[in-house]
Amino acid sequence: MNPDEYRDWAHRAADWGADYRASLRERRVRPLVAPGDISRRLPASPPEQPESMETVFRDFEDILVPGMTHWQHPRFFAYFPANAAPVSVVAESFVTAMAAQCMLWQTSPAATELETVVLDWLRQALGLPGTFTGVIQDTASSATLAAVLVMRERALGWGGNRDGLARHPAVRVYASDQVHTSIDRAIWVSGIGQENLVRIPTTGPARAMDVDVFAARVKEDREAGLLPAGVIPCVGGTSVGATDDIAAVCAVAAREGLYSHVDAAWAGSAMICPEFRDAWAGVELADSVVLNPHKWLGAQFDCSTHYVRDPEALVRTLAIQPEYLKTHGKRDFINYSEWHVPLGRRFRALKLWFLLRVHGLEGLRTMIRQHVSWSARLCEVLRNSTDFEIVTEPMLSLFSFRHRPRGVPDIDSHNIALVNAINDDGRIYLTQTRVDGRSAIRFQVGAFDATEADVITAGEVIRDVASRMLAPAVAAS
Ligand SMILES: *Cc1c(COP(=O)(O)O)cnc(C)c1O
Repeated sequence: MNPDEYRDWAHRAADWGADYRASLRERRVRPLVAPGDISRRLPASPPEQPESMETVFRDFEDILVPGMTHWQHPRFFAYFPANAAPVSVVAESFVTAMAAQCMLWQTSPAATELETVVLDWLRQALGLPGTFTGVIQDTASSATLAAVLVMRERALGWGGNRDGLARHPAVRVYASDQVHTSIDRAIWVSGIGQENLVRIPTTGPARAMDVDVFAARVKEDREAGLLPAGVIPCVGGTSVGATDDIAAVCAVAAREGLYSHVDAAWAGSAMICPEFRDAWAGVELADSVVLNPHKWLGAQFDCSTHYVRDPEALVRTLAIQPEYLKTHGKRDFINYSEWHVPLGRRFRALKLWFLLRVHGLEGLRTMIRQHVSWSARLCEVLRNSTDFEIVTEPMLSLFSFRHRPRGVPDIDSHNIALVNAINDDGRIYLTQTRVDGRSAIRFQVGAFDATEADVITAGEVIRDVASRMLAPAVAAS
């Protein structure tokens, strides 16, 4: 591709992106495709001869775009959002154009220094104290893995990396039964082993870990010669928004010498609004906190911000310096690759900087507040609709509900069938979960471009599809 063609296609890509965003409401949120439908239309072997950009672009539009689930769709209410505010998309195009590796200060001085500054901005915006220092990780899963490795190393006197784990007593990590699977995976990958992830039962409407049980388990484990190392409380669990009492958990952790890592991957973005900060009250006592601006805030994936009280603990656990990675003759700089597992790293701070500046904290707070209030309104609509019940009350913009019509014997399979029918309808996209062993339907408002009308439409679609599902059953009886 020569420079003129590059310019031409880059313009076309920008136009395509803007048109795509503008046309999302006319598209289905989730495509109607079956496994294999897309790959069947692609050649099984690579081209020997060059093909034209036009040809490849046409296949992209004809084969691939119709097979995509549209995460930027304003009526995406499934999972959690993965928002890419248009300003962050534009910022990412500058990042892509430069394609710099930002692993060391000297490989990208401006990227490193902007990351330090912009993470401190975000820290202030979240109301976190100045005792926290941030780093951008690719995902919350990686941040949690780094935190678990620190727990392990700290508990083993920084000997696990060098000696292996075999010579040491079992390292124990505690978390509720509501935490994300990224915690299980960090426990596997770190070699701690699933049997040493101690599940603490949850209580109350917040589904918070029972802190007395947590304290008792730590004591028992210590008496049994095991090595309690850390705890991972969550704020806004993925299923229904379970939230631990961070102050109480961290108080036990501090008393017992455990490292605490708070997973606020989704809910953390909402902490830019002071009125929601009760949800993580006590977070200043934690050793480490992760939240994903790539979820609710609008910083295009990937951008996971990891705040720690002691960056030295990360560096001690993860840094390795062969001669070719050393920077001689300079002082007082950060090599962020020493703060996480991958060496190579993208210039992720740029999109966050553009986002925070162009929207301002007030603009982002307005978006989050609107999502929370629209979600609460829809929750009331469903609560007052015949045959619907609210299963879990709103945590920020997430609640769950169930359709419970009379005469339907298996309510669990009925609700799974309802989610499938709603998603096949295409106007909105939802996901199911299990609450206390029974099926429920999750609803969260979080799409960057969502309007109140989109949320109202969602309520109409849910009731419309549910009543259509009942129609044949009623006719038959
Ligand atoms: C989304 C989510 C994660 C995983 O986030 P990634 O950045 O995809 O690794 C972890 N914990 C919670 C609570 C989440 O909502």
